[in-house]
Amino acid sequence: MNKETQTILQRYDSDRTRLMDILWDIHDAFGHLPPALLPQLEAGLNISRNDILETASFYHFFHTKPTGTHQIYLSNTVLAKMNGYQGVYEALESATGSSFGVTEAGSEFSLFETSCIGLSDQEPAMLVDKIAFTHLTPSKVHYLIEQLKQGKTAEQIANPAGLVNTELDYVENQVESNVRTRGPVFFRGKINLPELIKETLDRPPEQVISQVIDSGLRGRGGAGFSTGLKWRLCRNAPGSEKYVICNADEGEPGTFKDRVLLTRSPKQVFMGMVLAAYAIGSRHGIVYLRAEYHYLKAYLEAQLQQMRAQNLLGHSIGGSNDFHFDIRIQMGAGAYICGDESALIESCEGKRGTPRVKPPFPVQQGYLGQPTSVNNVETFAAVTHIMEQGSDWFKDLGTPQSRGTRLLSVAGDCSKPGIYEVEWGTTIKRVLEKVGAYDARAVQISGPSGECISVAKDGDRQLAYEDLSCNGAFTIFNSRRDLLDIVKDFMHFFVDESCGICVPCRSGNVDLYRKVELVIAGKASRQDLEQVVKWGALVRKTSRCGLGTTSPKPILTTLDKFPEIYEAKLVKQKGALLPSFDFEQSLSEHAKAVQELQTEEQK
Ligand code: SF4
Repeated sequence: MNKETQTILQRYDSDRTRLMDILWDIHDAFGHLPPALLPQLEAGLNISRNDILETASFYHFFHTKPTGTHQIYLSNTVLAKMNGYQGVYEALESATGSSFGVTEAGSEFSLFETSCIGLSDQEPAMLVDKIAFTHLTPSKVHYLIEQLKQGKTAEQIANPAGLVNTELDYVENQVESNVRTRGPVFFRGKINLPELIKETLDRPPEQVISQVIDSGLRGRGGAGFSTGLKWRLCRNAPGSEKYVICNADEGEPGTFKDRVLLTRSPKQVFMGMVLAAYAIGSRHGIVYLRAEYHYLKAYLEAQLQQMRAQNLLGHSIGGSNDFHFDIRIQMGAGAYICGDESALIESCEGKRGTPRVKPPFPVQQGYLGQPTSVNNVETFAAVTHIMEQGSDWFKDLGTPQSRGTRLLSVAGDCSKPGIYEVEWGTTIKRVLEKVGAYDARAVQISGPSGECISVAKDGDRQLAYEDLSCNGAFTIFNSRRDLLDIVKDFMHFFVDESCGICVPCRSGNVDLYRKVELVIAGKASRQDLEQVVKWGALVRKTSRCGLGTTSPKPILTTLDKFPEIYEAKLVKQKGALLPSFDFEQSLSEHAKAVQELQTEEQK
């Protein structure tokens, strides 16, 4: 029996629902998840090896085979590619002597590509042994690898001054916060939290819920459901326990506002959770923190500890004998789909992040089958400000259906990328002026799952649920960018991140991706484009979760706004029924497949 594994199991009371934490601790101790430990885990957790492997194999950051001593994850987003990604990629391979995607036991370095790590405003960026390195250049990479080879840790290189990892300085020394504008709601300075909790506890929970409903606050994760209404549904749902979960798993390429809120205003986010707990009657809260933000963990734990010391968390909060609530941080392990609230709940329970079939909704049956309110980081921060300033103050801002302000993660072709707070109702052109984008052709609103709009056609449109809803990502492309390459990249992202449980999303996105490749290769016909529209609609209609229902949008919205980029690439032959069908290529692919099969059989 392995002693270290035994200690890890004991740390979590051998609770199988804490499998994510257990796997992380084993991974940290051994560098991967050694198969030899599976029997001990099976016995300790009373689950099968397949259950364990099912979870472990789902997440990008878990490895079941030995890797190099240093694990390097290079972000491969569109934004990285616009800012020197290729040079950094090549520098990493040449400096380490390793190749991307090839993991060799006993080697010093393992190189992996990964999707958005929440640093789109400072790409190219990468994680080395969980430490973030930004604004990379080939020479920076060579220097860094040299230091690692000399025996320094990534932590020592990133933090030569030895800043304490529980302090804000430590976090901001590693990753800039980049707050460009301070609006009327967020980043407004300190709030007297003990005073706020005292005032709140003087009122019945139902009144708190009514105030949040009255403010018009809508969830900031994307769907835009009324936050107060969600709380009321959760409060009224039958259950022996209620749970509050903060979704800090922003993974949409181009989004990083939650990173900054957690850096600059963590207590306002946590206080929002405390207020939610009081409103719905919960004793347990979870922050689901994406693995890419591991560098924030110690800092956030310290903030929680300070709140406990101030009697803002724990037993008898604010002196009330019957309000007890605490928060734990649950680390993700690299899966975009866990941004879906039901997938996130599955992950919190130690399982694969597979979205659940709804209904029942999480407010009815969520974490451990109990009513659960899952809200976004920005939503919780907004709640704290609403409770402090009042709902009238909040609803005076914005538009009739979109109250308050919105944090934008601005990246791409502009001179001032970063975080901007704008009132709902602000036009696209106004944002572009603010951020120094003078040659913008297209803006990707809400990341790949959102809309690609044309600045020429849509510049006067407003960011608002009535017009262009926005989950916070605002990515700008100028006229020198090849939009088709960007569409291809986004489709590749969805193919990679699909959890695979339903066929339309699993294979439909691959088919759509291939169509984009066909267009780029100049081999697509009008019929291909018609199929794209038809298949795209089908994938959207028949997929189980938000990933599938939005994944065809990069193609569909660019086809709508920029039809000329597709038209210019169509095959110009006349009369051919299927000009995109390349008989010779098909034959050669078939021959290749047969050869591969024969080789396999001979082994
Ligand atoms: Fe999984 Fe895609 Fe289906 Fe969502 S739509 S459940 S990501 S396969």
